[in-house]
Amino acid sequence: MNSINKQPETFIYTDKDRVWCMGEDMDHPKVYYTVPEKGFVVCGYCDLKFTRDKDLAKEKGLKL
Ligand SMILES: [Zn+2]
Repeated sequence: MNSINKQPETFIYTDKDRVWCMGEDMDHPKVYYTVPEKGFVVCGYCDLKFTRDKDLAKEKGLKL
């Protein structure tokens, strides 16, 4: 069996519909994303996931 080396997902809860990301260590250019009401948006640079979906946030154990 192949083992897949995958980093754990990182979700960030926000109450805004616009977020920006520069990476967890400010290691990529500043990019803006629109956060959908349901589900999440994934940063194309660093794979951080932003959500304002309270149900999803609860599911992922995020602090609201
Ligand atoms: Zn990012």
